[in-house]
Amino acid sequence: MATRSNFTAAQSAAREEFEEFARRHIVPEADHWDGSATMPEEFIARFAAAGHLGATVPAAYGGGGLDPVTVGLLAEETGRACSSVRSLLTVHAMVARAVHRFGTPAQRDDWLPRLASGSSIGAFALTEPGAGSDVQGLAATARADGGGYVLNGEKRWITFAGRADVLLVFARLDGRPAAFLVERGTPGLDVRPVKGLLGTRASMVADLSLTECRVPPGALLGRPGFGLAGVAADALELGRYTVAWGCVGLSQACLDASLDHAAVRTQSGVPLRQHQLVQRMLADLATRTSAARLLCQQAGWLRAAGDAQAVHATWMAKYFASTAAFRGASDAVQIHGAHGIGSAYPVQRYLRDAKVMEIIEGSTEVQQTTIAHSAYHDHPSTTDRGGRAEVVRTGGVPA
Ligand SMILES: Cc1cc2nc3c(=O)[nH]c(=O)nc-3n(C[C@H](O)[C@H](O)[C@H](O)COP(=O)(O)OP(=O)(O)OC[C@H]3O[C@@H](n4cnc5c(N)ncnc54)[C@H](O)[C@@H]3O)c2cc1C
Repeated sequence: MATRSNFTAAQSAAREEFEEFARRHIVPEADHWDGSATMPEEFIARFAAAGHLGATVPAAYGGGGLDPVTVGLLAEETGRACSSVRSLLTVHAMVARAVHRFGTPAQRDDWLPRLASGSSIGAFALTEPGAGSDVQGLAATARADGGGYVLNGEKRWITFAGRADVLLVFARLDGRPAAFLVERGTPGLDVRPVKGLLGTRASMVADLSLTECRVPPGALLGRPGFGLAGVAADALELGRYTVAWGCVGLSQACLDASLDHAAVRTQSGVPLRQHQLVQRMLADLATRTSAARLLCQQAGWLRAAGDAQAVHATWMAKYFASTAAFRGASDAVQIHGAHGIGSAYPVQRYLRDAKVMEIIEGSTEVQQTTIAHSAYHDHPSTTDRGGRAEVVRTGGVPA
C-alpha cells in the first residue's frame, strides 16, 4: 500500500511484528471480550510481556523507548484488531508519560519500571460529571493534611479504571489544578464499573468516588497549578496521537472486512464488488484510510522532530481519522447488509467502537473549533492572534 512505503526498515519490521501479535492474540478473542465486557488478565500479561505496555517508556526504565512513528504503528495494528486493547495502550502510556515528564526522580524510579513491565496498570482520571469537554470545570478537591493530601470528588468514564493499579487523578489543591497518583485499594477510593457501553466494551470503564481519600506526599505529580495545562495537556497529546493511529487501524479493519465480503457475496449473479455503488464505498474506505494514515505519519514525524506543530497536526490527524473510521465503519456494515448487523462479523463492533472515537480525546466538535481557531491564527491576514494556545492546551479531554 502506497502510504506504507514511507517507513524505515526498522519501523516496517516492527509493524509486521505488531500485526502478527494482534493476528494471533487479539483478533481471535476481540469479539468475545466485547461480548463479556472484560479483558482477561492472561491477555494483559501477554500484551505486557510483548513489551507493548512499555513501548513509550524510555529504555533506561525498562521500556521500549520507541520512536513516535513506531508507537503509532503499534496503536494502528492494535486498533485494527480491537479498540479496547488500543484504549489500554493509550491510557497506560498517558500515565507513564506524565510520570516521566513531570515526576520527581523518586517517582520515576518508583513507577516507570512497573509501568514499563506492565506489573502496574495505569489509568487517567480527569473527566467529572460537570467537566467533560471543558476540563476547566474540574471540581474534585485536594487539601494538604498531615504531610499528605486528602482527595474528594467524582470521576466519570475512566478507561481501565476497573483494572488499574494506579490512577492519575486530577483535583484542585487550594483551587489550583493538580495531579495525584492514587493506588488501587486506597481507603476512600470507590471504583464502580460502567455497564452497557455502546463501544470499546472491553475497556473496563469505571466511575470513581473519592471520599476523604488520603494519599502520601509522594502522590503529588508535578507542581500545583500545572495539573491541567501541564500534566493533563501533555498526556492528552500523546493519548490523542495514539487514538488517531488506532482509528487508522479501525478503518483498515473495515476495509479488509469489506473487501473480503464483497469478493465472496454474490448478488444479481456477480460478486458485490462488481456493483459500482459498492465500489464507491470501497473506494472511499481505501482513500480515507490512506489519508488518515498520512496525517498520522505527519504528526509522528513532527513529534519525533520535537516540532511544536505536532500538537496541531495531531488534532487534525485525530479529527480526520476518527470521523473517517466512523464513516468507514458505517459503510462496512452497509456492504455486509444484514450480515453486518449480526454477531458473526466484526463490523458491527467496529461501528460501535468508531462512534466512541468521535467522543474521546477531544470530541469531533471541539476539534473542529480548535482546528478552525488554529487555521485562523495561522492565516496571514488575521489580526485575531489570541486564544489559540489556550484552546489547544485545554480543549477536549481523554480516553
Ligand atoms: C468510552 C469512553 C472512555 C473514556 N475514557 C476516559 C478516561 O480514561 N479518562 C477520562 O478522564 N475521561 C474519559 N472519557 C470521557 C471523555 O473524555 C468525555 O466523554 C469527553 O471529553 C466529552 O465530554 P462529555 O462526554 O462530558 O461531553 P460534553 O462535553 O457534555 O459534550 C457533549 C456534546 O457537546 C459538544 N460540545 C461540548 N463543548 C463544546 C464546544 N465548546 N463547542 C462545540 N461543541 C461542544 C461535544 O462535542 C459533544 O458533541 C471517556 C469517555 C468515553 C465515552
